[in-house]
Amino acid sequence: MLNASADIIHLDVMDGTLVPNISFGFSVVEPLSKIATIPTDAHLMIINPDKYFERFAALGVSYLSFHLEAARLAGKDASQMLRSIKALGPKAGLAINPDMPVEEVYPHLEDADFILVMSVFAGFGGQKFIPETIERVEKLKAEIVRRGLKCEIEVDGGVSTANAAALARAGVDIAVAGSSVFRSPDPAETINVLRGY
Ligand code: ZN
Repeated sequence: MLNASADIIHLDVMDGTLVPNISFGFSVVEPLSKIATIPTDAHLMIINPDKYFERFAALGVSYLSFHLEAARLAGKDASQMLRSIKALGPKAGLAINPDMPVEEVYPHLEDADFILVMSVFAGFGGQKFIPETIERVEKLKAEIVRRGLKCEIEVDGGVSTANAAALARAGVDIAVAGSSVFRSPDPAETINVLRGY
């Protein structure tokens, strides 16, 4: 169904340390990568994410993101980490939780292919969309446009047909929807409706 209707398959990898939940790792990402005919997008909610960039890239993920929070915990430069992802092949993304001021990613915009603005706190599916996300995206978009950069904006968490139009207007390029798609009576149709915004 996803191969036939979605643009990208987003994979939430959680380690139970950076975020308070454990999801899955290579044992799930690897078989999924093999059956995916559309690009895959690995969102690493793990500490020391750079230890695993090579393995995710080898699985053929097209998008690979890590948290600025994780870079700081490791005392590493996020820009350098973004460049190391790009050198391996995938598009490089920098993710931030809702409580991280959006300005904190500005020094890294030149090195990022995309910024992942979390619209819920990373760690669990099914959370309610945080409305302030719209303003955060508008602010980030304005900065990207002002600097003439190509960096895209991805939003993840609580995305549904109720907020997709506002997100698109604010400048979101990639909308990640989980629960609102899989809990709907017709997931493929819900994806179509979301894409229509
Ligand atoms: Zn995600």
